[in-house]
Amino acid sequence: MPGLEDLYREIILDHYRTPRNRGELESPPAIETRGHNPLCGDEITLYLLVDGEGDDAIVSDVKIGGQGCSISQSSASMMTQAVIGKPVSQAYALIRRFKTMMGIEGYDEQPGDADVAMGDLEALQGVVKFPVRIKCAVLGWNTLAEALDRAGV
Ligand code: ZN
Repeated sequence: MPGLEDLYREIILDHYRTPRNRGELESPPAIETRGHNPLCGDEITLYLLVDGEGDDAIVSDVKIGGQGCSISQSSASMMTQAVIGKPVSQAYALIRRFKTMMGIEGYDEQPGDADVAMGDLEALQGVVKFPVRIKCAVLGWNTLAEALDRAGV
């Protein structure tokens, strides 16, 4: 029987080989943000569409462009799956949960964050053991946070 680490490796490789929600959105109306991890050469361009305002705001679409290592690209792919169709407040909660899982200071979980499902993202929890790869894993999340902040809903 394959161990958990093998399963996680399979999930990461699957998202790397077959990235979800790859492409572009017309900008505007989409918000476009870019992230670069010079340590590894990873690049991510993120396109975000938000529907509604305030508490009713929903992440209606996200597309990812760019290139880089398996960790950076698979993390962004899993992220799109986790946030599309979800309330903006839940997308922010996922960002906090993911950064907390990566051991990044200043991203203390808030009440209710633990209820947000991580799904395939759990596969990346082993990255925390490799500090140089943490920047790869959070790159897409930083571009998402910047786009959500700019949406300002
Ligand atoms: Zn990388």
